[in-house]
Order: sequence, then structure tokens, then C-alpha cells
Amino acid sequence: MANLQPVRGTRDILPDERQRHRFIEETAREAAQRYGYAEIATPIFEFSDVFKRTLGDTSDIVTKEMYTFTDKGGDEVTLRPEGTAGVARMLISGGLAQNLPLKYFYRGPMFRYERPQKGRFRQFHQTGVELLGVTEPLGDIEVIALGAAVLDGLGILSKATLELNTLGNTESRSAYREKLIAYFNDYRTDLSEDSQSRLERNPLRILDSKDRRDREIITNAPEFSDSLDAESADFFAAVTAGLDALSIAYRLNSRLVRGLDYYCHTAFEFTTEELGAQGTILAGGRYDGLVEQMGGAKTAGVGWAAGIERLAMLAENVPDEARPIAIIPVVPELQTKGLAIAHDLRSRGFVIEFGYRGNMSRRLKRANKLNAKASIILGPDELERGAATVRNLDTGDQEEVPLETLADHLKQYS
Ligand code: ATP
Ligand code: MG
Repeated sequence: MANLQPVRGTRDILPDERQRHRFIEETAREAAQRYGYAEIATPIFEFSDVFKRTLGDTSDIVTKEMYTFTDKGGDEVTLRPEGTAGVARMLISGGLAQNLPLKYFYRGPMFRYERPQKGRFRQFHQTGVELLGVTEPLGDIEVIALGAAVLDGLGILSKATLELNTLGNTESRSAYREKLIAYFNDYRTDLSEDSQSRLERNPLRILDSKDRRDREIITNAPEFSDSLDAESADFFAAVTAGLDALSIAYRLNSRLVRGLDYYCHTAFEFTTEELGAQGTILAGGRYDGLVEQMGGAKTAGVGWAAGIERLAMLAENVPDEARPIAIIPVVPELQTKGLAIAHDLRSRGFVIEFGYRGNMSRRLKRANKLNAKASIILGPDELERGAATVRNLDTGDQEEVPLETLADHLKQYS
């Protein structure tokens, strides 16, 4: 027999959770809209090169986590592990570069072959923003402010800490790289296997290691701030000054590096203590090198992505689903009349539940189970008079209401 379990690391999202996700997506979308970021959607799979050439061939994502397969036409494609590479590809293939700056918002599923655990799945969902074509620190400030606005809208800004770092420009990064290689070389054999292989190719990423022994060695590693040239230091100073001006609190974290190779200057993460090891809820930075690396014209970029599942675990103020009004015909002969009233009320925007079968008490029970606000009880005698009984299910009060004014009467329940 077929294996009917969902694939490991994937899950079904049932109505309550989907409602939470939708609230998060909508809160993020509305905030993005206020900042002038328009929603787009790119395909959930791309030619593998889109990710391989941009995420860096030493990144965890490319080396371990990609869902890659050859399709029936022989093309090698990958389910997207993140959103930025696809947006950069869209900018190039869509010839959108003449319209810079561009401001985009997206949401949707991402796929990474990781070890599933709390807050970590193989299919998960992100919402994110990208600001393309803005070289000024103003861009960094704006996208961070937008990230804070989203968390604020979800009622979780106070549970989150903004951690901030700079990865400097290319020159600063290569100077720092040399110092890091020299430092880590002394501990080469003590480093985890992963970090040993990062040492030559991308020593910065060792700073991101979660390995306990690596973390000890990292404690005394050289500080990036000592390698920043004047341009990089000025850029970062402008970013922090902007955040100060907006009263957005942050904590400098010189060990914060992004997992991907294309970042420069500002790197940031909003983290929380409330989700255990999976504490990063919204993360981003500047990626001025990405579009060029992919084969387009040099284009500045800065953005972030947030994990919807992790936000959903924290969000405080998720509104309840609209409570329905139940229509209850007391005898089977009134089923069609009930259906017609339901049809009319639904077309006027009311949320109407129509029990499909059963006697009145069974239908009332179901109405209560669905948390209905009111029930419309259709009995032959009232109908004779052109009326129905409306019962407030919270108070138990009921009154007879003429069908002509039923919609008006029900407004108190919408
Ligand atoms: P982590 O260090 O937790 O692996 P990451 O650096 O790989 O995170 P990003 O690529 O920056 O994460 O993705 C941005 C956000 O997407 C994360 O902060 C997190 O909220 C969410 N996220 C990333 N991977 C997963 C996953 N496998 N399952 C659920 N959410 C995820
Ligand atoms: Mg990861």
C-alpha cells in the first residue's frame, strides 16, 4: 500500500493554523504596502544554476539542502530554498533594471532538505521584501524599519531583538578574511569538519557555526570592526544613525554573518529567546553583488525574509475567524426556503452556516460547535406570518423578525 504519511519535514496546515499564517502574511503585506513595496510572485522552481551561482558553492543551502532534480525534458531544476535569487533572476530576465529603484514584497513556500525539528521544516513559508537599486544607507534603514513594523503589527516586536552587524565592502571583507584564516589556521585540527572545509573557501561562515567547539574558538577571533575601511565604517555609521533617528533599538553583534555568500555591508536579524534554538525570525542584509554575480548589471540590493511558521508560533493578536450565523429549518419541508434565505444573506456578505441534515436540536448543537453568533430558526408558523425567529446564541435572547427586515436586523451580528 502507498505510504500515506506526509513527506518528512512537510505538514498539512489546518484551518486554525492557516488563519494564523494568513494574518501574518496580510500584516506583512499591509506594512509593505505602506512602505511602497508591491507584491510579486516568482516560480517556486528555477534552473538550479540560479541558486548554485548565487548562494555560493560553500553555503549549507547549496551543499546540503537543495531539492534538485532533472525534469522530463532533461533540465536540472531546484525547488527554491529562498526568495532573493529568484527576484534577482526576474530583474534580469524581465528587463526590469531600467525601472530602478524597485520595491517588492513576496510570500510563499520554500524548500530545504534539513533535519526537521521545532520551527524547522523541509517545506516552510517565508514572507520577504527586496529593495533593488538603492546604494544609499537609507535603503538599509528603510527595510529594517519595515521589518520592525511587521513585527510590531504582529504584537511581537517587544519579544524580538534586532541584532546588527556590517560585513563591509569587498576590500574590507578580503582584509578580514586574511586575518580570520590566519587565526583559525592555528586551531585547524580542533575545528569541526564543516568549518575546516570552510576555512579556505569561506572563513567568514565559520563565525556562523553552531558547533560547540567551534563557538569556543570563535570567541577570540579577530573583530570585523578592526578591518573596516573608512567607506565601510561611514556606511555603517549612517545606518545606525538612521535607526537611532527612528528609535529602533538594536544590539551590535560582530559575529553575525549571513548564511549566504552574496551579502555585504549591513547584516541583521531579529531574534527571540522564545523559540529555543530556532530563534531567528526575520533576517536580511545588503546584497550589492548578487545581480552582477548572476550575470546582470551591477545592481544594489537590500532585503529580508521572515519565517512564517516561526512568526505564527509567537504572534499574539491573531483575530478570530468570523463567527457564522446558522440557519435552522425546523422541518425538512422548509429546507429549500432556508437555502434561499441563506443564499440571499450570503450574497449580502453575511457568513451563513446551513446545516445539511438533522433535527433542530442537532443543528443547534452544531451551530454552537461552530461558535455561531446567532441562529435563524425557520418554523412553519412564523413563516406563515412572513417572519423567522432569530436567537442570539451568546445570550439566549430571541425575537421574531420579519423576513423583509432580516438582513437589517442581522447587522448587529456582523
Ligand atoms: P537558521 O539559522 O535558523 O537555519 P537561516 O539563516 O538558514 O536560519 P534564512 O535563510 O535567513 O535562515 O531564512 C530567513 C528565515 O526563514 C529564518 O530566520 C527563519 O525564520 C526561516 N527559516 C529558515 N529555514 C527554515 C526552515 N527550514 N523551517 C522553517 N523556517 C525557516
Ligand atoms: Mg538554515
